[in-house]
Amino acid sequence: MTDLTGKTVLVTGAARGIGAEAARQAVAGGANVVLTDVLEEDGQATAAALGERARFLRHDVTSEQEWQRVAEYAVGEFGSLDGLVNNAGISTGAPLETVSVEFFRKVLDINLTGVFIGLKTVIPAMRQAGGGSVVNISSAAGLMGLALTAGYGASKWGVRGLSKIGAVELGTDRIRVNSVHPGMTYTPMTAEVGIQQGEGNYPNTPMGRVGEPHEIASAVCFLLSDGASYVTGAELAVDGGWTTGPTVKYVMGQ
Ligand code: NAP
Repeated sequence: MTDLTGKTVLVTGAARGIGAEAARQAVAGGANVVLTDVLEEDGQATAAALGERARFLRHDVTSEQEWQRVAEYAVGEFGSLDGLVNNAGISTGAPLETVSVEFFRKVLDINLTGVFIGLKTVIPAMRQAGGGSVVNISSAAGLMGLALTAGYGASKWGVRGLSKIGAVELGTDRIRVNSVHPGMTYTPMTAEVGIQQGEGNYPNTPMGRVGEPHEIASAVCFLLSDGASYVTGAELAVDGGWTTGPTVKYVMGQ
């Protein structure tokens, strides 16, 4: 478990999946956590299960006003804002020539503009706290060209790039900005499209299986922690080796 004692962390898209698990691990590590999501009922239940150091607020990451409100709430409730996990997102799966411009824009609005607004909003509070850590959840689709992910992949490449811009602009403020790139991970988002847990169920990756939310969350909590005090602008693939190379094995001479 990573030590986050005394830190206040805001996690978006935290009602379920990777965000809920990141919030759970952050609380277990000693942090105060503000969970936000558009899924109000699930979000309330997830936060309630985490006990006294967790709060839930309904929050659409595309809204500048709502970002302002949740950042002020975190500081008002817990006294500072030290960590942000930009996790909320939606996925896509269609050939690019069939994707409408309207839907492409919607995906970028949630997955990329939402991250931009979040990053921009927390800067004053993190400066006030003497520094902070922003962890932006990109994807393996932000490290390679993944078919059928036009809006999603473009947004995740954008998140990766934005993280590096934040890192170089905010380094001397001691605000670290990193991106995490999950591979296929078993969550409500992927369960809905038929992804299954278990060894051998995902031969695309060298490790042969999909990831679990706790495996992504532990990388997130490391980046939030002082253990990562000299890590900024990094892109951390947590993908069972998916983006490392193809799993095809050639045996010479046969
Ligand atoms: P998830 O289970 O769908 O959780 C994401 C949460 O974000 C959902 O509760 C979702 O609500 C919420 N959300 C959607 N639009 C929002 C908005 N405008 N404002 C606030 N919240 C919003 O997904 P997950 O699998 O845990 O994914 C979490 C993050 O990891 C995403 O950024 C995803 O792209 C990334 N990721 C996931 C995988 C994977 O295999 N699971 C792989 C790579 C990257 P709705 O249900 O209403 O949309």
